[in-house]
Amino acid sequence: MTPQDLMRLVRDVPDFPKPGIVFKDIMPLLSNADALRETVDLLADWAAPREPDLILGAEARGFITGGALACKLGCGFVAARKPGKLPWRTVSAKYALEYGYDVLELHADAISAGQRVIVHDDVLATGGTARAKCELVEQLGGEVAGVAFIISLEFLEGRKRLEGYDVYSLVQY
Ligand code: AMP
Repeated sequence: MTPQDLMRLVRDVPDFPKPGIVFKDIMPLLSNADALRETVDLLADWAAPREPDLILGAEARGFITGGALACKLGCGFVAARKPGKLPWRTVSAKYALEYGYDVLELHADAISAGQRVIVHDDVLATGGTARAKCELVEQLGGEVAGVAFIISLEFLEGRKRLEGYDVYSLVQY
């Protein structure tokens, strides 16, 4: 399977979750055994030479492929979550939305100083959430070894928000 084959398994859902947004639905890709394996293999091919100790995924779709990627690479998985979801002491990072802001939290002991972390999510849009995840890694003394997505929406210029980081996506729109 090529990245073009994977692209065909991403469903466009117009006007979700609100008018004007074309939602990139990866559920058909995840439910196809070959496509899921290929996605994880391709992400792992990119990530392995960056020698990560951990994969950091954000809820909710970033948990699915992030966990599989961590297993494939033989590294651990840590979860960034919306406020109030994590049971232990946390650090937090705020990021801008179209209107207002949101916050992501990470357990304060999730990353040790010097650990190399790949930040992962399904879609790069404006880059705000990925930037916040990079900030969480750095707050705990970790090093961002790379930022890996399945899909990037290049017209939203999220890479600009992630300048200085090593950014990768399997499929670009
Ligand atoms: P951003 O912070 O703008 O880069 O948004 C990234 C987060 O929002 C990711 O967790 C994505 O899953 C989700 N997201 C943003 N835009 C889309 C879209 N058009 N289709 C699917 N997910 C999206």
